Amino acid sequence: ITPTAEEVLSRAEEAGVEFVNLQFTDVMGIVKSVSIPIDVFPDVIQNGQWFDGSSIAGFARIAESDMFLMPDLATFAVIPWEQGRNATARVICWVHNPNGDLFPGDPRAVLLRQLERLAQIGYRYHTGPELEFFLFRKDNGSVRPLPHDQGGYFDLTTDLAAEVRKDMIQALKAFGIKVEAGHHEVAIGQHEIDFEYSDALTTADHAVTMKYTLKAIAQQHGLHATFMPKPIEGVNGSGMHTHQSLAFLESGENAFVDTSDDYGLSKLARHFIAGQLAHARGMAAVLAPLVNSYRRLVPGFEAPVYVSWARQNRSALIRVPAIRAGRTAATRIELRCPDPAANPYLAYAVMLAAGLDGIERELPLPEPIEENLYHFTEDDLRRRNVATLPATLGEAMAELERDEVVREALGEHVVEKLLEAQKQEWDSFRRHVSTWELERYLEIY
Ligand code: GLN
Ligand code: MG
Ligand code: MG
Ligand code: MG
Repeated sequence: ITPTAEEVLSRAEEAGVEFVNLQFTDVMGIVKSVSIPIDVFPDVIQNGQWFDGSSIAGFARIAESDMFLMPDLATFAVIPWEQGRNATARVICWVHNPNGDLFPGDPRAVLLRQLERLAQIGYRYHTGPELEFFLFRKDNGSVRPLPHDQGGYFDLTTDLAAEVRKDMIQALKAFGIKVEAGHHEVAIGQHEIDFEYSDALTTADHAVTMKYTLKAIAQQHGLHATFMPKPIEGVNGSGMHTHQSLAFLESGENAFVDTSDDYGLSKLARHFIAGQLAHARGMAAVLAPLVNSYRRLVPGFEAPVYVSWARQNRSALIRVPAIRAGRTAATRIELRCPDPAANPYLAYAVMLAAGLDGIERELPLPEPIEENLYHFTEDDLRRRNVATLPATLGEAMAELERDEVVREALGEHVVEKLLEAQKQEWDSFRRHVSTWELERYLEIY
């Protein structure tokens, strides 16, 4: 249901739009944007907007730097907080090489490639991400979560937070994102806003939009919204659990359903889960991309540590949520390791490729583990043959390098650029002498 150029232009005119931000993301999921005055938009819709790709992280090398953006008109939206004078709209773009091909290093194209692969065997990929975030007060204008023992800092009254959340939900609505719920999360100052599941490309776009929308709205209230995976030690971090299912392209029906199965899951779903378990370690660098992501993936905070699946167990990596009797269309699986720092396009691309690998190789699904895995001893884990997720970004990078399926899904260009960026992060972290070390070692040694 992509609108025509005329439809989009008349919507822009009605809203008094003066500028259009042409958006895309770099390999790390950071939003890039070029603003154009509205009168050149018709030409850009036709012919694209050229830009220098060599200055964008993870994009072209100097020698092949010319690229152009083509607006995906389905994503056109007036930016709710940039109305009135200089009213601005945004449109998410496809990135092209000069010869007209999609640029294989564009995360959105990486996802599209996997979705096309899936369409060839007759399915469509549905995802529903749950993005968690913290709202922090600013400290004299600078953003800094003070240690959690200075409790006052976070005592953002629930009333204020609830108001901010409502403004966030309204802004998302203006972007055409259908929010299902917003609520306070487990940790102090932590929240979650969930929107309706849809095809993976749409929800990846929505996840990106949601992140900058929440930051903008928080800012209006003098607050800071952060999707940093683990901002405070000792309390829950922020995840981006992702609910997933495959639907038949033709009928639109949920292909994960089999009511005769104990878990209500079809063979297809079982192989899909098996594939994601098999590539969980290889996908980690994409799904949990920061040094800080691995502070979240530790026992005790509702984040997964072990490679397992289950029905209700929230320590499992993949959970099969309970559904209301008869509502089998809602059958889905929830992958719990992604965090909101992940680039959602790349995340969904590798998650789908992993699931597809399970389907293609008909991988058998291991037994579910319904016990709380946080209480498992090393012995239990070995006996039950339970693997663990990488414990550090360094380990995750090594696993990505070893995983052919994940590498193939990302493509050579993205693998190279992603690992290059992460290696820099990891090296810088490895050189850092932390306060933790000083406090532990300075006196004793
Ligand atoms: N915050 C937890 C995580 O890191 C999830 C908590 C929840 O949604 N129940 O994944
Ligand atoms: Mg939730
Ligand atoms: Mg949650
Ligand atoms: Mg969840």
